[in-house]
Amino acid sequence: MKEYEEVFKINNTVKPVWVLFTDGGPDENPRFINNIYQYCCLFKKLDLDYLTIRTNAPGQSAFNPVERAMASLSKKLGEISFSIDTFGNHLDSQGKIINKDLGLRNFRHAGEALCNIWQRDKIFGKPVYCEYVDEESMPFSDVVFETNLGCNNEKANDEYEEPEVGNVEDTEQVLWAWIENHAKMCKYSLDIRKCEVPECCSPKRAPEVATLLEPTNGFLPPVIKGKDNHFLNPIHTVEYLDSAKLAKYDEHCPSISAELYACLVCKKCKKYFPTCAFLLNHKHLAHPKSK
Ligand SMILES: [Zn+2]
Ligand SMILES: [Zn+2]
Repeated sequence: MKEYEEVFKINNTVKPVWVLFTDGGPDENPRFINNIYQYCCLFKKLDLDYLTIRTNAPGQSAFNPVERAMASLSKKLGEISFSIDTFGNHLDSQGKIINKDLGLRNFRHAGEALCNIWQRDKIFGKPVYCEYVDEESMPFSDVVFETNLGCNNEKANDEYEEPEVGNVEDTEQVLWAWIENHAKMCKYSLDIRKCEVPECCSPKRAPEVATLLEPTNGFLPPVIKGKDNHFLNPIHTVEYLDSAKLAKYDEHCPSISAELYACLVCKKCKKYFPTCAFLLNHKHLAHPKSK
């Protein structure tokens, strides 16, 4: 949308580095694999160099200005009701749909009326854009994940073939391999960056950012506690601390005990994953003989 260009673009192109703050809800939480997949699609679609998604720690969402802004939309919802039969009744006496087209027209009418109500008032001085969408759109249907280019496990290099359409298991493997090569997954964050393989990722548009993050493998460093027990800003960490001496990703996360942390680390390669399911995916792909 043109109205958002000022935020998303610079010199008429999409900015190469994005920082998204979300709350921990299931539709945007970066720990759910479906959400991770969508964020990877967004990353590829926009040819980003770096995308970091950060959530508030539990209980902190109330301080998120976006959540506070959304609250005014929910409040409006609680104060109105729409007629369901503007163009005629599409339901029988049991409440079953007997005329689908009529039902969709009625639904559209209510949806458009809701948009009008929602966009009537500004929130925090900013205009609200709201559009009724008739059908689910598939903005990422043209995004393709390259097979395991740059992946350093034997199976990927020797045996991997282009997945056939509809072969869910292969498609998932390609996707998981891509995620492992490009993403750093933590309990409250997801970071995605381009890899160094030219056949896989296009040249970086902001190479100076990649240079800054080189000591930590191209990712922002872990969120760690400083000497005063406060968590440090990752940019401060990358600029002033020795990357070789840093704590591991999520090692300082208060809700992960040392025992749990040990369970979430791959015994073979010491890679950490925020969930057991992800660790299993990793073992399955990276160490196939250990199945
Ligand atoms: Zn790549
Ligand atoms: Zn491993």
